[in-house]
Amino acid sequence: MSTPLNADLHAHSNFSDGLLSPAELVQRAVSNGVDLLALTDHDELGGLPAAREAATALGLRFVPGVEVSVSYCDQSVHIVGLGIDASSPQLVAGLAQVRGGRDGRAQRMGEALEKIGIRDAYAGAAALAGNPALISRAHFARYLVDLGLARDTSSVFDHYLVRGKPGFVEHEWATLSDAVNWIHAAGGLAVIAHPGRYRLSRAQMTELFDQFVELGGEGVEVVTSAHTPAMISEYASVARRYDLLASRASDFHGPGESVMDLGRIPQLPPDLTPVWSQLV
Ligand code: AMP
Ligand code: MN
Ligand code: MN
Ligand code: MN
Repeated sequence: MSTPLNADLHAHSNFSDGLLSPAELVQRAVSNGVDLLALTDHDELGGLPAAREAATALGLRFVPGVEVSVSYCDQSVHIVGLGIDASSPQLVAGLAQVRGGRDGRAQRMGEALEKIGIRDAYAGAAALAGNPALISRAHFARYLVDLGLARDTSSVFDHYLVRGKPGFVEHEWATLSDAVNWIHAAGGLAVIAHPGRYRLSRAQMTELFDQFVELGGEGVEVVTSAHTPAMISEYASVARRYDLLASRASDFHGPGESVMDLGRIPQLPPDLTPVWSQLV
């Protein structure tokens, strides 16, 4: 039996909320034995040329991607686009619109944190962002860790940045149909990212998959660092039921921060059709 491909189809650079530059990310993927890598920055395509160039230089197979922020049932849901043409006018314009809301949201988060006595959080988060158009909650989390308010970014989320906590502000992202349509307009495959993370009822989750498939969405992340073994089994069943392609994804953000490193994630259940069978 041949060894399965070490594909990792979800990772971030400092063009969004990752810690490494695109070239450093590619170098790390090669060092970790990744065979096929997708860069999928949040709502941003700017890191793709440098990642492609580094991948070509190092002989790594590369998939251009993006992770689109969507509002669904009062939650943020993420849709990954894989194999996209980064020059697609619809995708470029759609992502510009989504990014456009981020700075105002970050300012409102700063004001919300100020109310509980944390000053200058907007400036602090902005100073940590590699891309001024892409301030994410992850940058706020890192700033609050630097202030000594929590031991790690994950506890900052739990205490400050999730709904019901003082730094959380409501925000309207793209619609599910916009995200899938932009990805398709760019010739890409649409994949539901880390479904096990969403706080949705069973009925809402079913509705999400029903609508996604109705819109022509192609895949689901079955293996991702956020999934427990039970979640891997659950979303493998969902992939079978809806006949979706399965993705394998570290969602790597940076050394020391991400629990699972690039390519160091479980293999897909062998009966599923990997999304990369449609990409390479
Ligand atoms: P945003 O797009 O600004 O809402 O930020 C979402 C990002 O925050 C995700 O992509 C992760 O990088 C990070 N994030 C979300 N939830 C958590 C968590 N519980 N612990 C650590 N990082 C998180
Ligand atoms: Mn992120
Ligand atoms: Mn995500
Ligand atoms: Mn991600």
